[in-house]
Amino acid sequence: MRTADDTLMPLNACELEIDLFCKGLRVPETVPLDGARGLSRTRAGLGSGLEVVIPARSWLKDAIWVNAPVVESFAKQSPYVLGGSPHEGYVIHDDRDGTCYPVTIPREPMWYHQPTSRDVPMSRVGVLQGTYLGIYVNPVCGFWHTTPKLNCRFCTTGMNVGDAEVVEKAIEDVIETCHAAKGQSGITFVHFNGGYQGTRGIELIEPYVRAVKERVGLLVGVQLTPERDFARYDALIDLGVDHLSFCVEFLDPGWFERICPGKARMLGQDLFFDAMAYCARKLPKGAVSGEIIAGVEPIERTIEAIDRITALGAFPTVCIFRPTVGSDMQDWPPPRYEDMRAVMAHVYEACRRHWIPIGAAPNIEVSIVVNPDDTALLAPRTGAFYGFELWRRSMRLIAGPVFRSRLRPRSRRKSGTLGAPPEPRDPAQAA
Ligand code: SF4
Repeated sequence: MRTADDTLMPLNACELEIDLFCKGLRVPETVPLDGARGLSRTRAGLGSGLEVVIPARSWLKDAIWVNAPVVESFAKQSPYVLGGSPHEGYVIHDDRDGTCYPVTIPREPMWYHQPTSRDVPMSRVGVLQGTYLGIYVNPVCGFWHTTPKLNCRFCTTGMNVGDAEVVEKAIEDVIETCHAAKGQSGITFVHFNGGYQGTRGIELIEPYVRAVKERVGLLVGVQLTPERDFARYDALIDLGVDHLSFCVEFLDPGWFERICPGKARMLGQDLFFDAMAYCARKLPKGAVSGEIIAGVEPIERTIEAIDRITALGAFPTVCIFRPTVGSDMQDWPPPRYEDMRAVMAHVYEACRRHWIPIGAAPNIEVSIVVNPDDTALLAPRTGAFYGFELWRRSMRLIAGPVFRSRLRPRSRRKSGTLGAPPEPRDPAQAA
């Protein structure tokens, strides 16, 4: 029988990540998952898979985190099967050619079982998705309360908030959970999201941002539907927010309207790009992202969306469509690997062309999407590639002290902002 050490490895870590998102993973009942992170149906439901870490074996990246779909019906036909145990190590076996990929299954953190001082289990406050902490903080997204419902068709937030997670999170519970996750799991980043709240989304989220910045010291990201009064973003930036993301999801107006009826009717697609452009001008390059879903609209439109987002100085967060159980799209087919690989290769190319400093922030590995810096593993090794990689490396070094300062509670640090990284005047110079 082939072992992990003597097999061929035809896919690199990023390619395997993409293929797992597209095909899912079978987990036989005989494979023990003692101590592994449980399947977590929180927020939009994308964490419903098994957290897996794939060693990247590359100078570009140590490891890639992926939340592999396991409960969706397509995953039951996957050629990928998990084998091994916590003691001998895990492998993912590809039934088609017998290839074995050694992987790690990350352990559930101790703090998941710890209650806050208000006796709320911390796992019902926040959840690790890769190496960062995700917390849905606002009341249930307003698109779930309309008649008929205007929720995004791929989303399950309206089912998860109040079930897998607490409906409204007290600031103290959030702070204690952030402290535990920082102290025990070494997180550097907390991501707050809160769906559609009319004109009150930022107002509701501000106290959490302020408290984390003051008392914990973490990089903080916020994801809400866009608001028309852009001055509210100024206030959020003044509070010290490090990252803002806007989930436009689709570029094609027809697909946007069909899959995201609430966003289309109440906000309009242009508002997402306008807010993204505004914030990208206010924050350092690469601090703003545009989130899109690949695998539903034609990939040419996804590629256009990537170009549009990167042209604004933002980075694309591309989520491979997952027909999440319980969502309106649960019976839709997952996308094809070949298409998704082409999309992800374009992510790298677009970030390189626009000098977006992807992967500059320390220890942020998001398991529910393909991280933009994962896609370096897909790029052809040209002079331009090496030039960009050299620049990215220097950006990480330059930004290091600034991030370290921002990881201290504000009450204990001097002010300091993350300045935009310098760009080479001529790409050829950098190469
Ligand atoms: S805006 Fe859409 S994706 Fe976000 S929580 Fe609401 S329904 Fe879900």
